Amino acid sequence: MIYDVAVAGGGVIGAMTARELMRYRLKVCILEKENDVACGASKANSGIIHAGFDPEPGTLKAKLNVSGVPLLYKAVEELNVPYRNNGSVVAAFGAQEECTLTELYERGIKNGVKNMKIIDGNEARNIEPALSPEITKALLVPGAGIICPYALTIAAAGNAMDNGAELLRNFEICGIKKEEVFTVTASDGRTIQARYIVNCAGGYADRLAEMAGDMGFEIIPRAGEYMLLDKKEGKTVSHTIFQVPTANGKGVLVTPTADGNLLLGPTASQVKTPESTETTDAGLKTVASLARKSVPEINTRAVITSFTGVRASEKGGDFIIRRSEKVPGLVHAAAIDSPGLSSCAAIAVYVTELLRESGLETPENPDFDGTREDTHAFAKMSDEQKDKFIKRNPAYGRVICRCEGISEGEIVDALRRNPPALDIDGVKRRTRSGMGRCQGGFCTPYVMKLIAEENGTDETKVTKKGGKSYMLTGRL
Ligand SMILES: Cc1cc2nc3c(=O)[nH]c(=O)nc-3n(C[C@H](O)[C@H](O)[C@H](O)COP(=O)(O)OP(=O)(O)OC[C@H]3O[C@@H](n4cnc5c(N)ncnc54)[C@H](O)[C@@H]3O)c2cc1C
Repeated sequence: MIYDVAVAGGGVIGAMTARELMRYRLKVCILEKENDVACGASKANSGIIHAGFDPEPGTLKAKLNVSGVPLLYKAVEELNVPYRNNGSVVAAFGAQEECTLTELYERGIKNGVKNMKIIDGNEARNIEPALSPEITKALLVPGAGIICPYALTIAAAGNAMDNGAELLRNFEICGIKKEEVFTVTASDGRTIQARYIVNCAGGYADRLAEMAGDMGFEIIPRAGEYMLLDKKEGKTVSHTIFQVPTANGKGVLVTPTADGNLLLGPTASQVKTPESTETTDAGLKTVASLARKSVPEINTRAVITSFTGVRASEKGGDFIIRRSEKVPGLVHAAAIDSPGLSSCAAIAVYVTELLRESGLETPENPDFDGTREDTHAFAKMSDEQKDKFIKRNPAYGRVICRCEGISEGEIVDALRRNPPALDIDGVKRRTRSGMGRCQGGFCTPYVMKLIAEENGTDETKVTKKGGKSYMLTGRL
């Protein structure tokens, strides 16, 4: 079989692109080197829907961020992904930073961002009482939001699959040959053929381009470290609190997450590879001290985990989304660092336009259904509704993750629904089982048992995240 389009990379850009392509009668596959989608930058970022005041006017970032936000809000409603339009506040400390705030405001106006307002420090503290008394002015941006980035990626990939796209996991692309069509080879020897390729390989997009014979750009991996605080701290602030950006990026933020935790970070430092996801003592100390600059009473004793995400940046600073000049049929969606999540829905539409310009025919698919059932429907039910539901399916009455209150029924659903979870981290990202205070200390053995039962195997074959990441070495 020859696919019309092979989407290389199952991050949020690949997943949203595959979903967009399913609006048309096309054979589409997602090729992902890991055991699941959302294993790169799309699982470890701030989860902010940026309104669009930060990118330089005239850049792809500015255009796709501002046009992308309403498209993204529409998509997340259709896909039932947790999000909140909480608005953001950019805090300025003193006269010099106030000037930068004015520049940001003016840039936002040029980019087409609506309803921004500069307010003084006291007004800011009326809205957000936990803000520092040192804040002299702030930019209030009502259009910003928060979203769970891996939930979005999983939902978009799942919706693309429900509409006929295929997901090939553990398909690490190591060769791309163009004759009449593309032949794409994986490191385990599998091959597929496709008429068009979209390069959504994140931190490895430059390598992928090179494999296809197009050495046009270099990705610079830049790590950002975070601390995640327990849900009891989730209401410390309601807006996303930024500091004025520097040459290094948007700076350290303090934000509630779409799931109700409090998130602090990120730092910004160049690292060796897109997989340099370790956290450091120095990085986390920087996060804590900069976060306290904006919100002095942050309780860092309530940290439940820390993590690092790696940005795929390029020296030009803008997204690289274009048709390859050297390899007809190849479209790059590369160097998608921040605000890539906010722009993902617009990027998917733009990539589809570029494929059309390259010759892809896109007849409408009248059967396309862009909606997806709510994965968290059970959690949102009233006690009475839950009672009725449990009577029909007792698995929903057995609580597996005590911290987050996740039942066996929800975990089994995650093991069956597109794209099915295959490992412990996959279950965690789909259900939040293991994301609470104990970080999986209690629920992991039960989750392993359910994964093993679902796959007709035993617990020694269950992995944390595919490959050889087995949880058990054998039976005593
Ligand atoms: C610290 C940090 C903070 C951020 N904060 C925000 C924010 O608040 N708001 C916002 O809008 N954006 C934010 N971003 C940016 C956002 O996370 C990215 O724009 C987005 O996740 C990029 O998605 P992607 O699909 O391009 O890349 P990825 O999610 O990295 O996906 C690329 C995929 O390609 C796969 N792959 C790579 N090589 C191969 C190969 N050879 N074969 C097969 N598969 C391959 C990888 O395994 C991976 O799954 C942030 C990023 C970081 C790192």
